[in-house]
Amino acid sequence: MPHSDALYSQDDSIATVLEQVARAHRILEMEGHGDMSMGHLSYRDPHGRGLWLKRGNLGLEEVTGRDFILIDFDGRVLEGQGLRHLEWPLHAEIMLARPEVAVVGHSHPFYSTVFGATGAELGPYINHAVWFAHHGVPRFAETSHIITTPQLGKALARTLGPAEAVLMANHGVSFVGRDVREATLAGIFLEKAARAQLALASSGLAHHPPGAEESVEKYDVIYPDRAKNNFWMYFNRKLDAQEARQGGPQPR
Ligand SMILES: [Zn+2]
Repeated sequence: MPHSDALYSQDDSIATVLEQVARAHRILEMEGHGDMSMGHLSYRDPHGRGLWLKRGNLGLEEVTGRDFILIDFDGRVLEGQGLRHLEWPLHAEIMLARPEVAVVGHSHPFYSTVFGATGAELGPYINHAVWFAHHGVPRFAETSHIITTPQLGKALARTLGPAEAVLMANHGVSFVGRDVREATLAGIFLEKAARAQLALASSGLAHHPPGAEESVEKYDVIYPDRAKNNFWMYFNRKLDAQEARQGGPQPR
């Protein structure tokens, strides 16, 4: 289904939101988050039943609005068919810990994953990194294993704390938002920020981040709600243009 700004802003039925979450998967693929059939986003069920999680065995670029299963917070499948991703506890535990979060993403974007394998702190060197100015991007280094148990999910959620994203050392990243728009931008901006900082570090040139206070102020200037809308719509137009050229997403 092509993007429609009117649909996005006026119809918040589950099917319509899942179309948007499906598009978020395809946008994230376009922006460097793809890794075969790994990576998944979830959407908190508005009726309190649990969360809608992308089903397994699909690449991010293949996801449509029909590719979600509804699971409760204990992982029981309530609706839908298909493989339940092993890392479902990552989504469940973050949502339990963060009641304001409606969308959780987990993926293995190349630059963020490489950056996450270092001990460096992500600094506000470029505008994309300023998305994370309030809380920084913590690093979860208790294990490099995938998050397959509620215990590991709780540990990851603890490290995430109030932040918008968390680096998962030698594995990938997770990112969150109060809606699909915020979560998608967090994922995209994290990858751009990590790429920029890796480029800076490998340049050998001297570099200094702006101060923390200035970066928090800057967040308010460059990321008001209308800017989040503009950027979300921009990425939807970019996806539409790419899929029109490629004739995708391909029906299966
Ligand atoms: Zn993973």
